[in-house]
Amino acid sequence: MNNSVKKKKIAILGSTGSIGCQALEVVHEHPEKFEVAVLTAHSNADLLIKQAIDFKPNTVVIVDETQYEKVNDALWKHDIKTYAGDESLCQVVEMDEVDLVLTALVGYAGLKPTLAAIKAKKPIALANKETLVVAGELVSKLANENNVPLLPVDSEHSALFQCMVGEFHNPIEKIYLTASGGPFRGMKKSELEKVTVQQALKHPNWEMGAKITIDSASLMNKGLEVIEAKWLFDLKNEQIDVIVHPQSIIHSVVQFEDGSMKAQMGLPDMKLPIQYAMAYPNRLANSFPRFNFLDYPQLSFEKADEDTFLNLALSYRALELGGTAACALNAANEITNLAFRKSKIGFLKIGEINQEVMEHCTFVKEPKLNDYIACDSEARAMAEELVLKNA
Ligand code: NAD
Ligand code: MG
Repeated sequence: MNNSVKKKKIAILGSTGSIGCQALEVVHEHPEKFEVAVLTAHSNADLLIKQAIDFKPNTVVIVDETQYEKVNDALWKHDIKTYAGDESLCQVVEMDEVDLVLTALVGYAGLKPTLAAIKAKKPIALANKETLVVAGELVSKLANENNVPLLPVDSEHSALFQCMVGEFHNPIEKIYLTASGGPFRGMKKSELEKVTVQQALKHPNWEMGAKITIDSASLMNKGLEVIEAKWLFDLKNEQIDVIVHPQSIIHSVVQFEDGSMKAQMGLPDMKLPIQYAMAYPNRLANSFPRFNFLDYPQLSFEKADEDTFLNLALSYRALELGGTAACALNAANEITNLAFRKSKIGFLKIGEINQEVMEHCTFVKEPKLNDYIACDSEARAMAEELVLKNA
């Protein structure tokens, strides 16, 4: 029997990042189930080349055109097609060779390739939450119309999805997204004024890319996840709750209409949700580390502090406003997050500038794709200006 016929061929957008590298570990763990069709990166040519030689994709894309020659010189002799530029991301996801697109790239850059993949009717394993924050209504509607599943990779959303499997006919009363609280849990505004980038980059439970690690420290990540959950699971705003759970063992909870609650738990290891999205509806045996109850005798829960961590409150406000509000918030946050990482602004300015941009950016109640694109540029420009003013 020819086993290769059954292999799922995966396009990994953002293969050189934290999620991308772990997705390749999952492929390595299950060579009989998966093969890599496409790898893409923004500018890390050396790692992209190494991954391509190891995993032999049909095609790679390097977004940064100045790195193209290096990538092409290294890979043409391996019979791997190479492209450059962000337009190429939209083209490669449409290829016949692709069965599943893993969106592991960071930020607004995920929107257009995700839309292209949905139009090409490719199932999506969605790590790039920003796409659903920017244009969740448009993306989820397009996915529905094209019958394309959006399989969550984010650990909380994977947990919710795993709790819902087999229950899709049973109405949900509410969901609880768990939050670790990040490195600054329990701190007040006066203490947050002086925190450094190094402190913010030290997440207690997860090792992730720089942007999401800062988002976790500012609770923006949980805010983005509230919005992501709304569009993934078609929930009303008041059905989405956040509970701080510092150990990150319970990854999220679904409460059904009879009051019964289902939670999904395990060690904080992104390989599991990545594998679940890649293999859905199957579970695959693996060698990843197992949870031991006796290592965690106490699991604890607390209320999230929305007064100190403004970004979480802003996300609920964005959901209330609807339209382009969340798009503006996301764009502002991409600018302020980077500005903080470059030590241009203090930690508390992230939320303050995000709020100002969301309040003052042009608002469109029923946006089309062009309105989201325009809102993203306007909000970025506004946030850049405020960063300069607050530097
Ligand atoms: P990362 O910064 O480690 O990696 C990002 C990847 O995207 C890299 O391969 C990079 O080359 C590529 N990239 C960056 N900018 C790009 C652009 N403008 N165009 C095209 N490609 C670009 O990020 P990450 O931590 O792996 O996160 C990726 C996504 O997954 C984010 O949306 C994040 O919120 C989400 N996510 C990550 C984790 C985690 O544990 N890291 C957990 C849940 C969700
Ligand atoms: Mg998460």
